[in-house]
Amino acid sequence: MAAGPRVREFQLIEHVRRLFGRTGPSIVLGIGDDTAIVNPPPGRHLLLTTDLLVESIHFDLRTASLEDVGYKAAVANLSDIAAMGGMPHALAVSIALPHSVTVADVTRLYRGLMAACRPHRVALIGGDTSASRCGLFLSIALTGYVAPKRALRRTGARAGDLVYVTGTLGDSLAGLNMLTTHSGKGLSGRDRRYLIARHHRPTPRIQTGQFLSARRLATAAIDVSDGLSGDLRHICEQSGVGVEITAAALPLSRACLAYAASTKTDPIQLALRGGEDYELLFTVPANKRATLDRFRRHAGCRLTPIGVIRPKRFGLTLRTARGTVIPLRNTSYQHFSSTR
Ligand code: ADP
Ligand code: MG
Repeated sequence: MAAGPRVREFQLIEHVRRLFGRTGPSIVLGIGDDTAIVNPPPGRHLLLTTDLLVESIHFDLRTASLEDVGYKAAVANLSDIAAMGGMPHALAVSIALPHSVTVADVTRLYRGLMAACRPHRVALIGGDTSASRCGLFLSIALTGYVAPKRALRRTGARAGDLVYVTGTLGDSLAGLNMLTTHSGKGLSGRDRRYLIARHHRPTPRIQTGQFLSARRLATAAIDVSDGLSGDLRHICEQSGVGVEITAAALPLSRACLAYAASTKTDPIQLALRGGEDYELLFTVPANKRATLDRFRRHAGCRLTPIGVIRPKRFGLTLRTARGTVIPLRNTSYQHFSSTR
């Protein structure tokens, strides 16, 4: 990180408040007091999510800018609200800073954070600040709202439901691999930029989550943060069901296919394993498929059916391109795993 004036806690907070703090009708009191005061919309349930990001575990400042780190940290939380079908509202940001960090660095971090928040009118209302002896820590808390009984939980998938996913899968992992292993050199500049942008600046599917919730289309939903093969497991375990995913149906971008071809990797494995795409994975009763198709232009992105929920005894399975049905292994990212 660049040399420059060192950080002093109170000046830093004032600086952040001046540049990024906002109040408005729904934020009665923002940064500056012992707590913020929020005026929630009447009759809504409060959603609250938090995420901790640790340097060299979740991000690497050799391959990501501080703007990118901030942007993606905000998206991770926005995506959790999206996966509940909620409307995001207010953000608190706690940071622990190594001594080398300057005010300009912190400004870059917040610029990225707020760039991801602004389209959704999410306000920064507080946080906490500490020094760190071992790298940068960033913890975000985000609130949101949802109408009672409309939240998209992980528990409602039933045998016969169709499994859908938004957008495309595997792009973020391809982008990460390009940055860390310098692979995919043969790709066009456009494809390279696309995959790296998908890694650093994923899109939270806020509109899609609200669409599914408002029209009562989904029986279960989760966002793909660890990887499809792992996140699918959460829906199946918590709903008490099995699943059959069709490999040939997994949505892959042209750039991801080009990356797979140039590195001789299986694009299906990228899609099953790759985390941090922040797409929504959800289940829809078969009799609501026509409604989903009719209104899909309101979903805000591509929606692809990728499989079907089965009774629990089927377990988690994959129908391969050859038509054989095999167990779906969990190849997603796992903390505290000895295999990584
Ligand atoms: P306290 O001692 O009550 O924790 P602080 O001095 O840490 O108070 O914080 C003062 C105000 O500044 C509070 O409103 C807090 O939410 C806000 N704040 C502190 N650190 C940050 C930060 N990194 N980003 C945004 N707001 C912050
Ligand atoms: Mg504090």
